[in-house]
Amino acid sequence: MPRFASPTGFLSAAALAATAWAAPAPGQGLDIRTLFSAPSANTAGAPAPAAGAPDWSGESGASNHPLMTAQAIRAAAANFRNCLAGLWPLAERRGVSRALFEANVAGLTPDLRIMDLLDAQPEFTKSFWDYLDILVNEDRIQNGRAILAQHRATFDAVEKAYGVDRHFIAAIWGVESNYGTQIGERSVIRSTATLACIGRRQDYFREEFLSALEILARGDVKADHLKGSWAGAFGPTQFMPTSFKRYAVDFDGDGRRDVVDSVPDVIASTANNLKKDGWVTGQTWGYEVVVPKGFNFMLADRSRVMSVQEWERAGIRRAGGKAFPRVDDRAYLLVPAGAQGPGFLMLQNFRVIMKYNPAEAYALAIGHLADRLRGGEPFVQAWPRQERVLTRAERYELQQHLAARGYDVGEPDGRLGGKTRNALRQFQSSVGHVPDGFASAAILERLRSR
Ligand code: CA
Repeated sequence: MPRFASPTGFLSAAALAATAWAAPAPGQGLDIRTLFSAPSANTAGAPAPAAGAPDWSGESGASNHPLMTAQAIRAAAANFRNCLAGLWPLAERRGVSRALFEANVAGLTPDLRIMDLLDAQPEFTKSFWDYLDILVNEDRIQNGRAILAQHRATFDAVEKAYGVDRHFIAAIWGVESNYGTQIGERSVIRSTATLACIGRRQDYFREEFLSALEILARGDVKADHLKGSWAGAFGPTQFMPTSFKRYAVDFDGDGRRDVVDSVPDVIASTANNLKKDGWVTGQTWGYEVVVPKGFNFMLADRSRVMSVQEWERAGIRRAGGKAFPRVDDRAYLLVPAGAQGPGFLMLQNFRVIMKYNPAEAYALAIGHLADRLRGGEPFVQAWPRQERVLTRAERYELQQHLAARGYDVGEPDGRLGGKTRNALRQFQSSVGHVPDGFASAAILERLRSR
């Protein structure tokens, strides 16, 4: 997740806002909420915090979770050493020695700045297309092709062993860490220890902390190289410690699964991850498609899976006038920008990429970058760039209006997920609009008027 949370991250220069539809739980890979993150302590004129000085804002988190109030955070921080001591029996059961445990927790202090990052909910958002523009650009395409050429023999061997197309591995490498140049500077042990003892995700991160200790106990990654994002994702393709346990492999045969310093281990472990998550060999991620005028957008639903042939019968065409290579592949239709933007037929491998990082914009960026690395063309159709993206407050308001009219949006949270999109489609349909699920400023206006 968020190596971008590091103020040195190449994207924090953009430092404008975060995306709305992303919101992955802290897990593997980058947090696209932080791609355009709110200015960090180190941006724009604010003095950099002195080394070791606490740089937490001291404020309650935006989630309103009882464990995220400033008071609760202070109390948990005061109890940090007790909390860590309480984790020793669990670590011992996993084969961590007392000496290794002591060496890692002695003198460890919580990194409270992470509490701000855990609850960051920037007010402004970037559009789907802005996000793609940033992640799939000429530099990243050129650097990716260079990586593919440089490690051709390894990619050959990994492709043969795991059946995962090399361009997707390179794309994940490129998007997660800009090809290993931005893997994050935070100690994974300190970050996961902080999150295991403080804040609203302690159960989740207790497992990550213990898994990080196991990695050190087995000597897979050098202790001083176990660095990464604030959520504990490390290495060029940003493995979380628990993902490491599930997926990491020793491909160079030195006895260590080193997903930080061994390129063969990085490439093979990432391929193994995709393979274990259900990658279909020989299939791509999906296709850009043209959605005809008058199309029934109620069909554009993740749960509506049909064969490519059936989609063709419904009027969907591949963009650029090309034929679909495999008409029996099963897919769902995604129209991230509504009727005014391109459509995409998403195959099984798109769902696999979303397991790596559960954000549609992320997965589409990976798929598109993979295509471009292979020599493919930019998307054919234009995005509706004139559309203003709703602010977080407006998205929240939109959800409240929908809920007030009886539509199921779940708990209004300012994030536009599948549920909100479905509710919006139903509302659009009921008032005679094209039910494309796109949260435009116009549809918010319509919702405001009773
Ligand atoms: Ca190795």
